[in-house]
Amino acid sequence: MAALTGGCACGRVRYRVNEAPLFTYACHCTDCQRTTGSAFVIHSTVAKEDFEIEGDTQSVTLPTSSGAGYDIHFCCNCGTYVWCIYHVRADPVLIVRSGTFDDAARVTPGAHIFTASMQPWFKLPDDVPSFPQAFDRNLTWPAESLQKLDDLIARG
Ligand SMILES: [Zn+2]
Ligand SMILES: [Zn+2]
Repeated sequence: MAALTGGCACGRVRYRVNEAPLFTYACHCTDCQRTTGSAFVIHSTVAKEDFEIEGDTQSVTLPTSSGAGYDIHFCCNCGTYVWCIYHVRADPVLIVRSGTFDDAARVTPGAHIFTASMQPWFKLPDDVPSFPQAFDRNLTWPAESLQKLDDLIARG
């Protein structure tokens, strides 16, 4: 796969994802609705080692329903929220906000989660799994992504 590139709205933050994301999903939780100012967020989980970023970002820690919290990283100049890290697991991955890809159409959500708080006008696609709360990645991610994650964890 050709690298996925992206960045913030003002252009000072630019990044590359050098390998295909492990998984992309839409989250309809109220936290994601609030931080995006929209109905849901699209998140792509990528290996930290596949992610290269240039430009100044700042981060803030916010609460999550798990209680573990997460850090969101945004452009110091324009405030575009570019990526985040969830503390619930210590996996060597981070999550890119897929709407910041230069060509966001190259990724498609493989699941919709936290649909219990989904906006009532949104129609879920018939051919994509959805979950009222979080998903179990062992049941949702492609086998090769689970294998890659295992390899990343094993390597430390
Ligand atoms: Zn910016
Ligand atoms: Zn969410």
